[in-house]
Amino acid sequence: MDAGVRTRRNAYAALALDRAVARRDDDRWLHDAERDPGAGHLILDPAGCVLATADGSAPCWLPAAALDATPAPATFLGIAAGRPYFAHTLDHAAAQALASAHGAQAQGLRDAGMRFDAFSAGLFAYARALSHWQAVTRHCSACGAPLTLRAAGHRAECGNPACARPYFPRTDPAVIVSVEHADACLLGRKPDWPAGRFSTLAGFVEAGESLEDAVRREIAEEAGVEVIACDYHSSQPWPFPASLMLGFSARAADRRITLGDGELAEARWFTANQISTGLADGSLVLSPPLSVAYRLIEDWLQRSAGLALDALVARAPR
Ligand SMILES: [Zn+2]
Repeated sequence: MDAGVRTRRNAYAALALDRAVARRDDDRWLHDAERDPGAGHLILDPAGCVLATADGSAPCWLPAAALDATPAPATFLGIAAGRPYFAHTLDHAAAQALASAHGAQAQGLRDAGMRFDAFSAGLFAYARALSHWQAVTRHCSACGAPLTLRAAGHRAECGNPACARPYFPRTDPAVIVSVEHADACLLGRKPDWPAGRFSTLAGFVEAGESLEDAVRREIAEEAGVEVIACDYHSSQPWPFPASLMLGFSARAADRRITLGDGELAEARWFTANQISTGLADGSLVLSPPLSVAYRLIEDWLQRSAGLALDALVARAPR
């Protein structure tokens, strides 16, 4: 399985969409596409929720006519199967009015990641990332003038003609790592997690840092464990609010653990058997399948012991 296949198994990362970048500045085309009866319109509220069907299993796709009274400019997302897709971020009152009129409900991205089909979940993640960036990128950081959105929502531009500085959506890379040593895998528990909940270690990439150096630094900082080798596993858009998770598998020099400055309450080496029995008796809880952490642990369990994490989790007490 190559990294592309592994990535498409991650939630929000299986979005088969032509982003049609060249259309972002084509106002005439955008005008017609937005009113195309086949267009898909995602409606977001300021909290980053999407309007979903009453049962929460899919986005509530509204016709363009339903949006005539909403002044918010549309963000063009792309084209799939000949169908153009747009996102609209409305204020709470307008979003609630549309929800009532169409029997919809506001749904968060985590729920959508578990309940929507892969395309819709990926599209929502993409729309949410842009919506957040648009909401927090309002003034020029060079001169303070208000910004105007351009390129169908994908660029902001300083309104001061003497400055005219452009701004682009920001993504913050973070590494998330399964560290292994012989027959064990390193997992940690954050201070605010309940006893028994463990996951792989993660942290943001710093300025001027390679991904591999970020892996070594984060594991050393959080658990005092020395990483001697690492390989890229897969990636996942994680717009909570603006991250990109970069999954790695790493090998440790030994099993000595020295906890860092409070990021973790606990770090432990788990054998495959300890994970299996911990899940079975409820003493261990792992991150949900929504996360790269789950995929990293799944991959390690399969490689090291031939165990299927889905099957172990399915047998775990609720
Ligand atoms: Zn400016």
